[in-house]
Amino acid sequence: MSAAIRNHPRIVDPETCLAGCTCNSEHPAPQVTLYSGKDAGQILAEDCRAIYGDRPVLLLFDPETGAVAGADLQRHLQAEKVNLTVYQFDSHPVATAALIETVRALSKDVALVISVGSGTINDLGKYSASEDHIDFWCLPTAPSMNGYTSGIAAIKVKGVKRTLPAAPPKRIYSLPEVIQQAPLKLRQAGFCDVLAKVVSDIDWQCESLLFNGGYCGLPAAMMTEVEHSYSEHPEEIGKGDESAVIGLFHGLLLSGVAMSLAGSSAPASGGEHLVSHFWDMREPITGREPELHGLQVGVGIILSTACYQRLRQLTRDDLPRQAEPLFTETAARIPAIWGPYADEVAKQFDNKREALLQFDTLLPQKWDELQTLFQQVQSPEYFADLFARTGAPFNLEAFRLSKDEFMLAALNSRAIRERITVLDLAAHAGVLEAAAADALQLLR
Ligand SMILES: [Zn+2]
Ligand SMILES: [Zn+2]
Repeated sequence: MSAAIRNHPRIVDPETCLAGCTCNSEHPAPQVTLYSGKDAGQILAEDCRAIYGDRPVLLLFDPETGAVAGADLQRHLQAEKVNLTVYQFDSHPVATAALIETVRALSKDVALVISVGSGTINDLGKYSASEDHIDFWCLPTAPSMNGYTSGIAAIKVKGVKRTLPAAPPKRIYSLPEVIQQAPLKLRQAGFCDVLAKVVSDIDWQCESLLFNGGYCGLPAAMMTEVEHSYSEHPEEIGKGDESAVIGLFHGLLLSGVAMSLAGSSAPASGGEHLVSHFWDMREPITGREPELHGLQVGVGIILSTACYQRLRQLTRDDLPRQAEPLFTETAARIPAIWGPYADEVAKQFDNKREALLQFDTLLPQKWDELQTLFQQVQSPEYFADLFARTGAPFNLEAFRLSKDEFMLAALNSRAIRERITVLDLAAHAGVLEAAAADALQLLR
């Protein structure tokens, strides 16, 4: 006899969320559901049995996430007589193509992959399952990034971190006390990642105003409703206060859904994310192991908001006409910065050459409307203070970043992606260097 299949609530109710759409296009509502409770392990196991019966299931965790939730979930699944294979990664796994192959070999004939963990373990399970069209569920262990619900995974291919499409999980099960007790640094990282939306949304509006008009107010509208529960509570997040940390976690889940809804990462990833990708991609060259995604993004937020602050001070007459030489100069620096990866980066930068060359006419033309957007962004001092108030250090030294590596990213990360961000605007308005120096002062 098989038990009835339980359906849990979707993270975003399709009707309510579509009310915020301003672009009049279709936004297929993501199906991902959430069950949250002390008994999430038991419920997951029962659901797994009810849906998949005797079909094989693969469970993934590492020693750390095994200790807080994975081993317990394994017991529940075994008690429900789920046909289970367990794979435990070594401590601090890296989402490499080689490890993806290991997971795919193990998941060859399974009906479901379950990840217990945060960024990396989630990406390993999600990407492997997605490649083979296998169902994927996850049990998050930290409110550290917004990737749980997103349609992408960060995988390192031939030494270079890439963002690849991957189907979001069908179901998420969360244990509130595990989320609440996640290490401080992970909570601080999630706090930075969810707040990136505040700047990336304006980046997206600027790009849309200058070029494609593709902006939609829906992702921002979705976030505005929940923002108050975490954005003004850094101390509580630092101390592990239940309502602030769970509020943060739900904000992160929603932020991932917002990206899926928009069909692009633009609502949650602008110039502030480029510096983080820059440092991830530079690992094989510098040997610096990347810091948590959210913390590097936090540094990027300080830079982006410093750019907006400098841009706010300019009038139309201050704008230099320098698009062509600026492109040539920036492109000329790529080989020295990227070595063996220079061709790939040069190709990305070249993809936005045509757009950038229009800046000499477009920026002055749209300056008044752009200023209205610039005015909406808080100062870098505001964010630096907010991040430090979580109680964990927030500076370059804590993130093992040298002043030189920071400046290199500030001035050159806009070349690694096609998307137009505030870093391009600041460069063409002639204030990127000054803004980077402002940010550096706040990151000492
Ligand atoms: Zn829309
Ligand atoms: Zn992010």
